Amino acid sequence: MTEEYNYDLVVVGGGPAGSSTAFIAAKSGIKVALLEKENSIAETVRTSGVTWIESIKEFGIPDNCYNPIKNFSFVSPNNEVTISNSIATAAVLDVRKTYRWLAHEAEKVGADIFVKININEVIKNKNNDIIGVSGTGPNGKIIFHSKVIIDATGFSSVISKAMGFVTQWERFGAGAEYEATVENIDPDTWWLMVGQEYTPAGYAWIFPLGNNIVRIGVGVGKPESSIDPTQRLKEIIEKQLGPIKKLGKITPIEFHYGLIPNEGLSRKTVYNNLILVGDSAGQANPLVLEGIRYAIKFGRVAGKVASDAIKNKKTDKDALYPYEENWRNAIESKIKSAGKVQDRWIGLSDKEWDKELDIIKELKTEEFLDFIKADFGLSNMLKLAVNHPKLAVRQLFNLVKRK
Ligand SMILES: Cc1cc2nc3c(=O)[nH]c(=O)nc-3n(C[C@H](O)[C@H](O)[C@H](O)COP(=O)(O)OP(=O)(O)OC[C@H]3O[C@@H](n4cnc5c(N)ncnc54)[C@H](O)[C@@H]3O)c2cc1C
Repeated sequence: MTEEYNYDLVVVGGGPAGSSTAFIAAKSGIKVALLEKENSIAETVRTSGVTWIESIKEFGIPDNCYNPIKNFSFVSPNNEVTISNSIATAAVLDVRKTYRWLAHEAEKVGADIFVKININEVIKNKNNDIIGVSGTGPNGKIIFHSKVIIDATGFSSVISKAMGFVTQWERFGAGAEYEATVENIDPDTWWLMVGQEYTPAGYAWIFPLGNNIVRIGVGVGKPESSIDPTQRLKEIIEKQLGPIKKLGKITPIEFHYGLIPNEGLSRKTVYNNLILVGDSAGQANPLVLEGIRYAIKFGRVAGKVASDAIKNKKTDKDALYPYEENWRNAIESKIKSAGKVQDRWIGLSDKEWDKELDIIKELKTEEFLDFIKADFGLSNMLKLAVNHPKLAVRQLFNLVKRK
């Protein structure tokens, strides 16, 4: 038997982008369904969950959802730098708790959450515009009719692909990590590890969650490298490379694996009755492959724009365009600059990485933070390109500045 539903807004994908869209839309009073294919929200974790305290506060994420980070350590084959701060600016999220909190916020304001719903088809009208989705649920076939649909399916971009609007991302990051208990870890300090032995295109990491738990992972840029991140992760743990040795005995709790788009902001994100948000829209900072705060922030924008459009009974691409305008204004130039730094980093040899860490040592804490967050243009960052006493630092920031 086929189940059939009618909603104002159907959000496909219960990650941070989908839950945040559903939250704002339902809060505005329209009828919202949030569809997730897994057995529960955040059943599978596919991310390391690092974000910024500033964003956490902006979104109202509860304090018990994260471990605050004050210090940022980098290791290259023959160099090391730690940027220290007196206050915590970054955080490692308890991903499951945070994503479930986001979904619960949506539910509290009236969104209906459906789990175990695997959406695999789109329903179109005679103009080929999307007017619903269908898939399989616990009781067989299930259909959702909707005025606007949100593609928040992450990397797989299921809805946009089914509409024929996009094809598989060709440039992306693949990451593998263990969440593990360790013997020794400073819960205030994260580690990023660079150089060929860790990964030929990307970085490895140790992110502490508190209570002697860490996430140890390896990210590999594709198609730049053919290395399997899972294999490489096992190797660097076995060899006890760099700061991994200091962790002592490592007892894995859980394994995480995921893919993140790395093609800049190449996709159009509004069509008639359809919005792409989060990873399906490619909204990630390529420098450190960070996307959670963008997924939440622009999910909320998508929820507002979609609900306004639905209330105004005009849901074509022009009516939904304010969403695209909003996020492009907010991050497009920053993400382009971050892409340039990433292009430089992806080609560095071990020796060049050692030198790059010498440049990072020259940065003040707030300059470093703006840099790693891709907040180019904030503080006096661009002045560094002209005024910094060290030529190498000026060169790095000139790269960011150049259009
Ligand atoms: C290894 C790795 C490490 C990362 N580390 C960080 C980090 O430290 N900090 C950071 O900010 N970002 C990080 N990211 C990126 C971050 O995880 C993403 O940018 C973010 O999760 C995007 O959120 P989203 O809601 O768009 O997609 P997702 O989180 O992928 O959520 C999509 C949801 O849609 C569901 N879904 C998919 N298809 C269907 C379907 N057909 N029907 C129904 N439901 C469906 C999925 O099950 C999932 O729940 C990392 C990514 C990877 C791969």
